[in-house]
Amino acid sequence: MTVSGIDWNAAKRTRGNRDVFSIKPDSHYFDNSFDWDWKSHHMDFGKLRAANLNRHIEWAEGRELSLSFRGVELAGEVGEACNEIKKLERHRIGIVGGKEDVSGLREELSDILISVDLIAMDLGIDLGEAVREKFNQTSEKYGLRTRL
Ligand SMILES: [Mg+2]
Repeated sequence: MTVSGIDWNAAKRTRGNRDVFSIKPDSHYFDNSFDWDWKSHHMDFGKLRAANLNRHIEWAEGRELSLSFRGVELAGEVGEACNEIKKLERHRIGIVGGKEDVSGLREELSDILISVDLIAMDLGIDLGEAVREKFNQTSEKYGLRTRL
């Protein structure tokens, strides 16, 4: 399986009953030579914000929703994602009620991101800038080279 241009199967090693991944520093992950189709995967925070604003006006008919509503909405989506992860884990360890298909988790992860942006929208937070700053702060804190 190739995700983000990385051949995860080639990088995968099994340690006990767990799969671990090893990506060597200075490999394709760092030299930007891997084949990643940015245009087909591109989604920016500005587009999401504009769509979220338009849909909020459409959905809530202009009403201002409380921060607690938004928080519960986010928590609900996180719970839905965790439920999907639980089912994937059931499959991984071989007990009933599991599933291998990640499409449900894909949807819930998307709902989480949409919900996060709705909170940021209500509070006037530039999420793209905030993510860039926080990502770089964490890299700096732990001495990692990768920056946004
Ligand atoms: Mg959902």
